[in-house]
Amino acid sequence: MSAKHRHPDYQKNARIIRQRVAVLRRGGGDVTCWRCGHDIDEEQRYDVGHIDPDAGHDLGNLAPEHRYKTARCIGNRAAGGKLGAARQQARAERRATTSTDLLDW
Ligand SMILES: [Zn+2]
Repeated sequence: MSAKHRHPDYQKNARIIRQRVAVLRRGGGDVTCWRCGHDIDEEQRYDVGHIDPDAGHDLGNLAPEHRYKTARCIGNRAAGGKLGAARQQARAERRATTSTDLLDW
């Protein structure tokens, strides 16, 4: 679990989202994954994900999504890994650019 998911605002609001999902399911409603727009079946695990990864932990930015990759959805865990890898790559490129610039003068 990342520091982001230990944040008290995230934990409080994620609990509310999970309660909403439970109420919805008890009432026979469908739970939709914000990421792919398809239903999350009851036997599928889900996460409370950030719609915008940089937008904080408000209720409006949190929604249920598939935890693992499905036929139609990348799933939260794989998407989070990709985001982390992309950020690492961007940092590496910035460092590379900086050292090249220093050699150019
Ligand atoms: Zn999905």
